[in-house]
Amino acid sequence: MRILLIADQNAEYKQLERLLGSMEGVRHQLTWCQSDISVLEATPASAFHLILWGRVSEAPLSRRILQELNRQNVKTPIIVITDRLPAGADAGACARGESDILLREQLTAPLLARALALAVPPAAERVHHARNVDPLTGLINRSEFRDQLDRVLANATTPESVGLLLVDVDQFKKVNASYGQGAGDALIQLIAERIATCLSAHHSLARIGGNEFAVVYQNALGSVESECRINLERILQAMAKPFPVAQHAIRMNVSMGVAMNKEPGMSVDVMLANADMAMRIAKRDKGSNYQFYTKDMTDAAQKILRLEAEIRRAIRNEEFVLHYQPRIDITSNRIVGAEGLVRWQHPNRGLLSPAEFIAVAEESGLIVPLGYWVVHQACKDLNELTLKGYDDIQLAVNVSFKQFQDKKFVQTVANIMNKHKITEGRLEFELTETTMMIEGQAVDQSLQRLSELGIDISLDDFGTGYSSFVHIQRLPISVLKIDRSFVGSVTTNEDDATIVKAIISLAHSLNMQVIAEGAETAEQVDFLARNHCDQVQGYFFSRPVTFANIKELLTQDDFVDRRIASVLALH
Ligand code: C2E
Ligand code: CA
Ligand code: CA
Repeated sequence: MRILLIADQNAEYKQLERLLGSMEGVRHQLTWCQSDISVLEATPASAFHLILWGRVSEAPLSRRILQELNRQNVKTPIIVITDRLPAGADAGACARGESDILLREQLTAPLLARALALAVPPAAERVHHARNVDPLTGLINRSEFRDQLDRVLANATTPESVGLLLVDVDQFKKVNASYGQGAGDALIQLIAERIATCLSAHHSLARIGGNEFAVVYQNALGSVESECRINLERILQAMAKPFPVAQHAIRMNVSMGVAMNKEPGMSVDVMLANADMAMRIAKRDKGSNYQFYTKDMTDAAQKILRLEAEIRRAIRNEEFVLHYQPRIDITSNRIVGAEGLVRWQHPNRGLLSPAEFIAVAEESGLIVPLGYWVVHQACKDLNELTLKGYDDIQLAVNVSFKQFQDKKFVQTVANIMNKHKITEGRLEFELTETTMMIEGQAVDQSLQRLSELGIDISLDDFGTGYSSFVHIQRLPISVLKIDRSFVGSVTTNEDDATIVKAIISLAHSLNMQVIAEGAETAEQVDFLARNHCDQVQGYFFSRPVTFANIKELLTQDDFVDRRIASVLALH
């Protein structure tokens, strides 16, 4: 504790120095301001925890010191040491209301200790404290945490002797959105406390982002891995209990990533980036709550980044093509429509299937421009079909959930349709159950507006997700597409046969059409026809083909009959 003594006699300085030296515990640093005020001018009084005001024989000096303290607007407590009470106490100091008065003849170490308890951290230290501490949780903040990690890394000499754990609270935004910011703040405090209980006393927990915490591990004797693992498990256990917030019991999950210094001299930024990558992978992979960083993660991420750049370039260079797989009405045995399936005509790697790029396009948001290109291409092809006299053929395209996040989605689709003069009932959008269910309100409204534009909406891969029928009924869905995993086994697996029959009758009772996808055999097509499925799409009739091929198939009135006949001939 830093103490400033204002007194003009050496004896008084010595006495206080002795008393302070005899006190146990806190160490004191006594600065003496003797007969001039240069000390106060050099070091502002606010730099001290406490001011002791001793004997100042000259009244003018006393006044000058007081003036200087007032000028500095000092809030530091002043303890006056006096011979008589209260006349000797300085009126100005008393008026400040922050002072204590000690009688000189009774001055003992315990009494002085009691007075020193008045001390507050000097202003400069308070500012420093605020700068390093997260005000909500009282934990150290991001900048202090970085400094700590930097120091620890600088001292590390062996690999894996420094570890960084990042803890990210999943879906935290939803808490703020549903219960308000106050509840969010309360929850963060509770989570911080709970994580802290999982750590040992020598670990310091930091809050380095809105919903992100960090712990630095250090073990000069060896690897920190086992210590980290123990904490990871403890944190997972602790998070299993709900948090009482805003009169609710809220369950929260965390995703954690750990990075270790693989070689000496690793930087704070690399450690943070690695732990962050491991944490993101833990978050992405369902059922995994934590991951230790490995180099493979960086390699995979770099591959994805390269692919992303390539997709961006490919969109500009128009390297994508839209193939179509015909849909057959199994009562009339005619092609009534086709599903557009995108492919990438890669300059070096040949024709790539969507499995190679759709996921990355979705993750990076590039599916938005790519999706517009698909809609544009389908509309252009539809228009050509109309001009050729096929004005009742429908073309469907696949739409990802990410596309609905684009605020201009519906308007842009409307513009594209206008440009190609697409009329009602010609264009169809296929959406998966997850797209329809997770996005809630925003998707509901967009679907409504798309359907008002005359676009049919179909529910793709039906049976693989978990749609609620209440929801399906509310949405403007006109087609259910049975997933090919059921269709592929209707003739071999009784459960799947029952499910397919149930889906067909359910769809019909809701006034929806049913399309079976992935039919590969005549038996499957036969089963579907007998059970009144409306349309069938699958390798049995045709693989996805180019638009030129589709036009060719449409000219063959007996395409389906010949296809069936050729299969029958084989039997
Ligand atoms: P999907 O929408 O379920 O498309 C049907 C997939 O099943 C297509 O694969 C198709 O070639 C394949 N298929 C059709 N009939 C059969 C069959 O009889 N047997 C078997 N084994 N497979 C059959 P593809 O073309 O590789 O597309 C895969 C997925 O990529 C699509 O699944 C769709 O989710 C996505 N995709 C394709 N094009 C687009 C697009 O333009 N935008 C978006 N967002 N996704 C697309
Ligand atoms: Ca589809
Ligand atoms: Ca599908």
